[in-house]
Amino acid sequence: MQNLAAALSERKQQQLYRTRQTLDGPQDVIVRIDGREYLSFCSNDYLGLANHPRLIEAFKQGAGRFGVGSGAAHLITGHSYAHQALEEELAEFVGRPRALLFSTGYMANLGVVSALMGRGDSVFEDRLNHASLIDAALLSGASLIRYAHADMESLHRKMAQTGAGKRLIASDGVFSMDGDCAPLVDLAGLAASVDAWLLIDDAHGFGVLGKHGCGWCVDQLSDAPDNSILMATLGKALGTFGAFVAGSDELIETLIQQARTFIYTTAPPPALAWATRTALQLVREGEDLREKLNELVRYFRSGAAELGLPLMPSATPIQPLLVGAAAAALELSEALREQGVLVTAIRPPTVAKGAARLRITLSARHQRLQLDRLLEALASCYGKASCAAR
Ligand SMILES: *Cc1c(COP(=O)(O)O)cnc(C)c1O
Repeated sequence: MQNLAAALSERKQQQLYRTRQTLDGPQDVIVRIDGREYLSFCSNDYLGLANHPRLIEAFKQGAGRFGVGSGAAHLITGHSYAHQALEEELAEFVGRPRALLFSTGYMANLGVVSALMGRGDSVFEDRLNHASLIDAALLSGASLIRYAHADMESLHRKMAQTGAGKRLIASDGVFSMDGDCAPLVDLAGLAASVDAWLLIDDAHGFGVLGKHGCGWCVDQLSDAPDNSILMATLGKALGTFGAFVAGSDELIETLIQQARTFIYTTAPPPALAWATRTALQLVREGEDLREKLNELVRYFRSGAAELGLPLMPSATPIQPLLVGAAAAALELSEALREQGVLVTAIRPPTVAKGAARLRITLSARHQRLQLDRLLEALASCYGKASCAAR
C-alpha cells in the first residue's frame, strides 16, 4: 500500500500543499472567513453576478416552479423546459445553430473530445491549456500533442509530423492562469486548411469580452465554420454554475448520442438553468459592468507599473503577478492575507515550475479605493517575500 502520510508531508515540504478556506457567506469582493472580513481578488465572478438580487430571485422562482432536483439524466426525464429554454437562448446569443448544457465545464470538455476523438486520432493542445482539456485528450485515447503557448509555428510543425486519423486543435480562449487571449483567427484558419476540429474553451472570455459579452471566441470568429466548437462555462462571469457547448446541429446531436459525461449523469437542477437565463439577460445588458471592469483593469495596471510590479501581459480581468518560487508566492499570499487582502498563490503543477504567481482577478464590483488598498499591500509585501525566499 502507498504511504499517503509520507507523500502528504513531502508535498508540505515542497510548499505545494493545498487547503480550503470556508466562506461564511456569499461570494463577493468582500468575503467573510472565520468571522473576519477580507478584500478578495480571487474569484471568477467577474461581473459580480454570483450574489446578484435578480439571480437570487430567479433561482427561488425556478425552485418554486421546477422543484430542486432534476431527478434524472437529460435523456431519461431530467431535461426540463428550463434547460431547453436556456439552451435555445445560449445558441442564439453566440450565433450558433445549437447549444447543449453540461453539468460542468470539466465534464463538457471531457464529453466533447472523447465523443469526437479516439485511438489513432491526434489532439493538439496549447501548453497552457486548462487541465480539463488535457484530461479530455487523455480520456479520449487519442495522442495528445502539446504545442508552445500561442505559437502558430510550433503548432504547424507538430501538425505536419502527424499521419492519418482525425485531428482536433483545442485551446483556452482566455488563458486561465495568464489572462492572455489565444490567436483564434490564426487557429481557425489553420484548422480549416487541414480539415481539423477546433475546440475553444471560453470559460474566462464568455460574459466578459466581445459585444454584449459574447466572449472572445464569438468576437474573433463571428462567422464560425462548422468545424469550430465553442465551450463556455456558466460558473464564472455568469455567476451561476454549469457549462454549454455550441456548434452545428450535427455536432450537438452527436454529443447527445455519444458524450458520456452528458449521458451518464443527472441533469443539473432546473432552477439553476432558470436562474442562468436571468444571468444571460444581465450579461447582455451589462455593458456598463464590462466598461467598469475594463476601467479597473487599466487603473490597476497603471498603478502596478508605477510600483514596478511585474504584472504579466494581460488585458483581461485576470492580472497575474509573477513571483517565481512556490514558497515565495505562498509567503506573499500569506503576508497579504495578514493585511486583510486575499489573493491566491498559484503553484505547480497548475503552472510551470518556477512560474508560481499571484492570480489577481478583478470584478466589476471592486472600487478604485479597494484597488489602491491592494496596490499598497503589494508594495509593502512584494519585495520582502521575493527576497526572503531567495
Ligand atoms: C473553470 C474552467 C473550466 C472548468 O469549468 P467548471 O464549470 O468549473 O468545471 C474549464 N476550462 C477553463 C479554461 C476553466 O477556467
